[in-house]
Amino acid sequence: MDQNFHTIIEPFRIHSVEPLRMTTRAERASAIERAGFNLFNLHSQDVLIDLLTDSGTGAMSRDQWAAIQHGDESYAGSPSWFRFEAAVKELFPFKHVIPTHQGRAAEKIIFTVLGGRGKVVPNNTHFDTTRANVEASGAEARDIVIAEGRDAATIHPFKGNMDLEALEALLEERAGDVPVVFLTITNNSGGGQPVSLANIRGASEICHRHGVPLFLDACRFAENAWFIHEREEGQSQREIPDIVREIASLADGMTMSAKKDPFGNIGGWLALNDDYVAESCRNVLILTEGFPTYGGLAGRDLEALAQGLKEAVHPDYLRYRIRSTAYLGDALDAAGVPVVKPIGGHAVYIDAKAMLDHIPALQYPGQALAVALYQTGGIRSCEIGTVMFGRQPDGTELPAAMELVRLAIPRRTYTQSHIDYVIEVVTAVAQHAESLPGYRMVHEPKALRHFTARFEPIG
Ligand SMILES: *Cc1c(COP(=O)(O)O)cnc(C)c1O
Repeated sequence: MDQNFHTIIEPFRIHSVEPLRMTTRAERASAIERAGFNLFNLHSQDVLIDLLTDSGTGAMSRDQWAAIQHGDESYAGSPSWFRFEAAVKELFPFKHVIPTHQGRAAEKIIFTVLGGRGKVVPNNTHFDTTRANVEASGAEARDIVIAEGRDAATIHPFKGNMDLEALEALLEERAGDVPVVFLTITNNSGGGQPVSLANIRGASEICHRHGVPLFLDACRFAENAWFIHEREEGQSQREIPDIVREIASLADGMTMSAKKDPFGNIGGWLALNDDYVAESCRNVLILTEGFPTYGGLAGRDLEALAQGLKEAVHPDYLRYRIRSTAYLGDALDAAGVPVVKPIGGHAVYIDAKAMLDHIPALQYPGQALAVALYQTGGIRSCEIGTVMFGRQPDGTELPAAMELVRLAIPRRTYTQSHIDYVIEVVTAVAQHAESLPGYRMVHEPKALRHFTARFEPIG
């Protein structure tokens, strides 16, 4: 807009509404106990403001719902597929696009083909499903984010950057064991922090000099491109799609969850240039997902995503998106709540280690905070700490690098007054943080334990 007014304007108005269900504190106390103190086990009807994830929870636009009516459910060669493929290639001009039902299906396919015992896959920071799929193939998942990215309080404009010296050293020593290098944009598990174009260029140069392909875990590519536009020298005059295409040109392939930036309730894809690897991937796809022109998706989903991809790179939307996340983060910061800074793109991450310093890592301070936010105000958040990452492949349990609680903001879903309520609840919990108990895990599943583990408060 022409004038610099401060109020954040949602660049849409509301066309269809969903009721929220109010609960009492007593109802929430019994709901969380029944859920084994695991927020994933709650009935979502018992949640008031659901910040568990921004995945698949965004509001679709009028134009996406209209596109759904154009869904063509032909088994092979549907026009919906060709519209989807064209929309993906418009931003990511990789030779092969392989549709999947969500991001982890793309990961499962690529690591089935490229992973295996004795191999090591570096990433700035592996997302939980990415790590699990690398490890399920027998390979090692190694995180090599820059040092600033491992410290919640350090300010850096691109805290998601990969440590290029560590990458160079690894490839110098064992390039033959590295089938692919991944860069996660933005770095979800590291606080939703962006990766700079310069860092992507650097990683690309190192990978290609060693003959190793570079792949993007590109779930939040549009938010990452906005940060590049806002923060990186020489980028402020460029169009967002241009920045995205340059990022794609530096990589050899990508995995994607379309439940993030492209406003899908479901969807994903794998895209790559190598013909031989693509053929192997399609063979796995047919076994596990579906025929190559629909993958795990209905024609109507492909239509919604093709439209969503166009909306995801609109500057008015991205300006609102990033500013409204910062609005929550800045308010918590001003209230003295320790948060990861600078504020990331899709979420605000509370530093539970700093807030609950009386709870040791193996009593899960992040879980303690997440439970308290629900009990106090019906807010559902997500622990990203020792519950999620503590169990090692060798069976031992170690504290995670950070104990974070993620408040993920669904796209175009909550208004500023919902967020003002969240600020009030978090601030109230912070004021009696020292009274919150730690937790012990009383049931632990074998893989991705945070989804279904059960807990008990200690004492
Ligand atoms: C969500 C996500 C995935 C996995 O995608 P799903 O659609 O949930 O399977 C992978 N990587 C990152 C960075 C993500 O945020």
